[in-house]
Amino acid sequence: MKIQLNKAHYPVTALGPGKRIGIWVQGCSIQCPGCVSLDTWAADRSKGMAVDDLLAWCKRVAGGAAEGITISGGEPFDQPKPLARLLAGLQRWRDTLTRPFDILCYSGYRLEKLQKEHASLLARIDGVICDPYVENLPTQRWWRGSDNQRLVILSPLGEERYAAYVDVPIDQPKRFQVVADGQRIWFVGIPQRGDLDRIEQTCADRGLTWAGASWRA
Ligand code: SF4
Repeated sequence: MKIQLNKAHYPVTALGPGKRIGIWVQGCSIQCPGCVSLDTWAADRSKGMAVDDLLAWCKRVAGGAAEGITISGGEPFDQPKPLARLLAGLQRWRDTLTRPFDILCYSGYRLEKLQKEHASLLARIDGVICDPYVENLPTQRWWRGSDNQRLVILSPLGEERYAAYVDVPIDQPKRFQVVADGQRIWFVGIPQRGDLDRIEQTCADRGLTWAGASWRA
């Protein structure tokens, strides 16, 4: 079984606590105005990767050292069957480790819809950051793109890792990772409004002009 995948990366330190594996799926039917992940919207079968290969990559890249796994996108719940297989495989792997990693999943769907339609998937996750991104709201909460989005704890491990971050405003500068990949750079984390334009301008001021930006239509 294949999952449509935009990218995967380790280590990710800007989307959840600790050193994490990041998995971004391809395809999002929600399409929130102002989303900075435009490049993940289109479903694309050419980006299919066998879930078992993705699991093998996770084990290879992090060994037992990952403290968490963040699944984002794109919309993970738009691919419920591959997501179920991925989560089941991650849980089997986690059961073999002495230091467990937590699983955090993003979704643009409201919690109530996820509970109604995907309860069995939520049962395999420690925390979910859900609800659509709303462009004109503040961005003051941990790991969230807009302050309407809820961080919902779903397990005892989730309680341990996320209870301190649910309703408190972020109390430090937001973390943002930059990854160089050949001629491309990409970002990991939740930018403040205008951050990406400021980074582009700073690069231009130093003579580095971008050929394009994936978050612009
Ligand atoms: S914010 Fe998330 S749910 Fe909303 S359009 Fe972007 S990828 Fe999809």
